[in-house]
Amino acid sequence: MTDKMLKFTEIGQQNPPKREVDKRKSDFNEIYDEFITEKAKEQASRCSQCGVPFCQVHCPLSNNIPDWLKLTAEGRVKEAYELSQSTNNMPEVCGRICPQDRLCEGNCVIEQSGHGTVTIGSMEKYITDTAWEHGWVKPIKIQSEKNQSIGIIGAGPAGLAAAEQLRKQGYKITVYDRYDRPGGLLIYGIPNFKLEKFVVERRTNLLKESGIKFVQNFEVGKDSTLDQLRKKHDALLIATGVYKAREIDLPGNDLNNIFPAMEFLTASNRKGLGDKVDLFDKGVLNAEGKDVVVIGGGDTAMDCVRTSIRQNAKSVKCLYRRDKQNMPGSAREVANAEEEGVEFVWLSSPKEFKGLSKIEKVIVDQIQLGEPDDSGRRRPEIKIGSEFEIKADMVIKALGFDPENLPTLFDAPELSVSKWGTIKTDFDTMETNLKGVFAAGDIVRGASLVVWAIKDGRDAATSIKKYLENKEIKQSKVA
Ligand SMILES: Cc1cc2nc3c(=O)[nH]c(=O)nc-3n(C[C@H](O)[C@H](O)[C@H](O)COP(=O)(O)OP(=O)(O)OC[C@H]3O[C@@H](n4cnc5c(N)ncnc54)[C@H](O)[C@@H]3O)c2cc1C
Ligand code: SF4
Repeated sequence: MTDKMLKFTEIGQQNPPKREVDKRKSDFNEIYDEFITEKAKEQASRCSQCGVPFCQVHCPLSNNIPDWLKLTAEGRVKEAYELSQSTNNMPEVCGRICPQDRLCEGNCVIEQSGHGTVTIGSMEKYITDTAWEHGWVKPIKIQSEKNQSIGIIGAGPAGLAAAEQLRKQGYKITVYDRYDRPGGLLIYGIPNFKLEKFVVERRTNLLKESGIKFVQNFEVGKDSTLDQLRKKHDALLIATGVYKAREIDLPGNDLNNIFPAMEFLTASNRKGLGDKVDLFDKGVLNAEGKDVVVIGGGDTAMDCVRTSIRQNAKSVKCLYRRDKQNMPGSAREVANAEEEGVEFVWLSSPKEFKGLSKIEKVIVDQIQLGEPDDSGRRRPEIKIGSEFEIKADMVIKALGFDPENLPTLFDAPELSVSKWGTIKTDFDTMETNLKGVFAAGDIVRGASLVVWAIKDGRDAATSIKKYLENKEIKQSKVA
């Protein structure tokens, strides 16, 4: 804390009149801003400009981290922002929710020499939040609009990044989404405590102000077929994410108060956005006062346990069939959850749900790890006769997501998909087997990360631009 901040805290012990309080609040904000700016400069100056920027190499967007840290250390935050936004459509989002321990920060040379990483994510957030505060983030202004139009199915990070890149080139863009708000998992999946909703909304509002048309509550497969959209636009991008929740078929699965993760998280996010959510208000989709059991070990499971804690659950237990070292979720998320009071029941697997009409307890088998399977991870095996029970008023299943059956849903049986149901694309161009139809994000990769979705959206935009330019040349030759 700076001397100025200490002084302010001392002043705050007295009981001043309102006008004085307002003045002190504004003084505080000024001092606080100064404090944060100093902290940011201090943190940025820790970058050793090592000349081997492993951080940049391990950022999926190849962000020019050393240079924007240098500019920030010199107080040139506006230039740092210009540089940062040139490779990332949502730096403030990635700064908040990238698993930096696995990406940029985990590969910081200073971290590897044992002196603690430069906090790259929080610097990225600081730079872009500062840019928003100062009005440096502006809607796109195009010189002249092109005649060609692109339809984008899905308003998640992949679709939004592509929309922005293509709008900058002057194309007409329409984004279709079956939700009532744009943002995809940024708005209804990832909880508010990790990514505040206003951060997503100000981004999507900026895209609207840039002339991108959003058609919400529009489900491709119900409100139109893929073919109808192909006829309407010169090119299409499918960026629909993966939403089919993986299931465990156990006795008692149909008892009340057992929910898929997305139902629980969406209700909580809707409440945070100010929506009326009957099932939450009636206490059904609300963990308050309950013994909650979450099944799964990925980041979605971590979001469920941490949301339950914030809803004042009586107890929160997380069942995971492997051990802590083999957990798929980010180590940082697990540490946060433990700190907040979540109990992890490692090496455990649910066997049966029991109760009269509602869940009352989960019967659980203990697990031991056997020989490695095809993926190289040690295979979980049930310890015979090891079962025990855990009291539960609410169970949340967070076992991961698979793609929906898009060829059937879109009435496009000719659309080529992999054996997992993800869309097959050309490795270089991201075009599907249907001419002029491209795909990006989780629907191609399987459940992944926001930063990869943004990267895919940008790459798809580059390919779509090339495709449309060629199309125009061919058409002009025919004419
Ligand atoms: C609970 C949870 C927490 C996560 N936390 C993190 C995290 O902390 N950090 C991180 O990097 N990643 C996280 N992820 C992963 C990340 O959210 C995804 O990888 C990313 O959002 C994928 O982007 P996308 O654009 O491909 O798809 P999505 O974000 O899923 O967007 C797809 C959009 O397509 C729309 N859509 C689908 N089908 C149709 C249709 N038929 N017609 C019209 N619209 C349709 C959907 O409504 C949605 O808006 C998390 C995921 C979950 C589920
Ligand atoms: S986008 Fe993610 S990986 Fe890249 S610098 Fe930012 S926080 Fe790190």
